[in-house]
Amino acid sequence: MTTDVVIAGGGPNGLLMACELALAGVRVVVLERLPERATAPKANGLVGRVVQALDYRGLYERFSGRGGPPVPVPGFQFGALPLDLSVLASNALYAWPVPQRRMEELLEQRARELGAQIRRGHELLAMRQTADSVSVDVQGPQGRYEIAAKFLVGADGAHSIVRKQCGIGFPGVTDHGFTGRSGQVTIHPPVAVPGTGELQVPGVGRFRPATFTRTENGLFAYGMFQPGLYRVSVHEWAPSPLEDSDTMPLEELRAAVRRVVGGDVPMSEPAGGEPPALRRSTGANSRQADRYQHGRVFLAGDAAHVHSGVGGPGLNLGLQDVLNLGWKLAAAVKGWAPEGLLDTYQSERHPVGQRVIMHTRAQTALLSPGANITALRELFGELLREQSTVRHIADLMAGADISYDTSGAGPAHAMAGRWMPDIALRTEKGSTRIAGLLRPARAVLLTLADRTDLADAAKDWADRVDVIAAATAEPPAEAVLIRPDGYVAWAADGGTPRPADGLRRALQTWFGGAAVPC
Ligand SMILES: Cc1cc2nc3c(=O)[nH]c(=O)nc-3n(C[C@H](O)[C@H](O)[C@H](O)COP(=O)(O)OP(=O)(O)OC[C@H]3O[C@@H](n4cnc5c(N)ncnc54)[C@H](O)[C@@H]3O)c2cc1C
Repeated sequence: MTTDVVIAGGGPNGLLMACELALAGVRVVVLERLPERATAPKANGLVGRVVQALDYRGLYERFSGRGGPPVPVPGFQFGALPLDLSVLASNALYAWPVPQRRMEELLEQRARELGAQIRRGHELLAMRQTADSVSVDVQGPQGRYEIAAKFLVGADGAHSIVRKQCGIGFPGVTDHGFTGRSGQVTIHPPVAVPGTGELQVPGVGRFRPATFTRTENGLFAYGMFQPGLYRVSVHEWAPSPLEDSDTMPLEELRAAVRRVVGGDVPMSEPAGGEPPALRRSTGANSRQADRYQHGRVFLAGDAAHVHSGVGGPGLNLGLQDVLNLGWKLAAAVKGWAPEGLLDTYQSERHPVGQRVIMHTRAQTALLSPGANITALRELFGELLREQSTVRHIADLMAGADISYDTSGAGPAHAMAGRWMPDIALRTEKGSTRIAGLLRPARAVLLTLADRTDLADAAKDWADRVDVIAAATAEPPAEAVLIRPDGYVAWAADGGTPRPADGLRRALQTWFGGAAVPC
């Protein structure tokens, strides 16, 4: 049995990888060991640039049912301190409240529609590779079998067997002085304030949903994602003598909330058949794979990094890893990847993972108890009144401060290496926007002035790069070469010397040699 790419893990990252590869015409098999999708709730939504990145594939409109581009949020939190984003003219902190289970269902549906094979109840047991292929031993419902592929992607979560079998280290820290508890519950009036989503805790005060509250005993947060169904989470800065559990009693959650907020929140099991999903977790990990690639094997998502979930950065990081790797892997399968292209997955995405670990650790520090931290929070709160600090933190959390190295293609324009903004365009086919051009996950040379010289220079790459002439109100450049993941590979304006030569160099660097004429 052979295919182009095997993906271990049918979580959100494995499934998006399947969509990306199948969209590019690559044969892909996803191995997911669970026969049915797990019911335990995980992510409540996506936060950051990833929402726009999924919009660039048409998935935001399709999955959310909302028309038009996503809109950034006017405010957020950093380490439970308010981040007033209304002071910025624009920001990339988009928030899309979609339960992870729903996101996985939609991605699986899309991947199947594009031709990916999703095999549920199939567990990767072992793998080995040669210079040309990877072989995977699988335990399926009908027994063991082997499958060979050109590449393997380990999207098999934090305990990744793929990472372990490749001998890739997972350095970092595990903080044992910490216990988290969470569950889905019903909270009745008068504590649940009808119509507001707020909680009025007798003798303590009012709490708002989707907001972290730090007290001297810990951290409390909750959200209401369906009417009457509260997702409560509470963290205490104390080690637990008990082990991690998915069957914790409801009373344990209620007692922990009482200790942290200082008042009682009566709660009962959810009505309507939803699982209570009660969970105790001890310790917190911040770890990152020391390499994202081992020969023909790549890691993506939680297999590559784990960190605190404060601010919801996990899927922003993981899904953008996938969008970064997907088109490069497809290029390698199709045989046009220039030398070194696959190496840029590590050089571009590993530093991004490091920054997420840095800011989630910084937020964890700001959430810790003690008078010194309270003073640090006061100072940090003052700094967050400065517009430039708000910009810095918003970009950091959104992953909007990314600038990939494009120097291999020669002197760079200011846009090179950065995210391509979603500008409105008029083309000969009508009105569109950048998101409309990138849906097929192909590279685009966009000319925003009369630059037939550049369109001509790109003709030999027509099998890999779409050339589109458009007009826009305030062109950011005269021509922009956009990678399939939405980042600018090269750009030129009127003052760029010998732009056709520069464009050809960039095309070769990112998309390989010119096509051989038939
Ligand atoms: C309680 C909680 C709340 C969270 N909230 C948020 C949030 O609000 N926002 C956010 O962005 N992130 C959040 N996260 C993080 C987010 O859930 C993870 O980053 C995400 O699940 C990672 O996806 P993944 O596909 O990399 O891995 P996983 O979701 O772990 O999926 C890996 C898959 O691989 C399968 N698998 C494992 N081993 C094998 C094998 N050998 N063979 C075949 N299949 C295998 C597993 O069964 C699993 O389905 C939260 C996490 C938790 C636990």
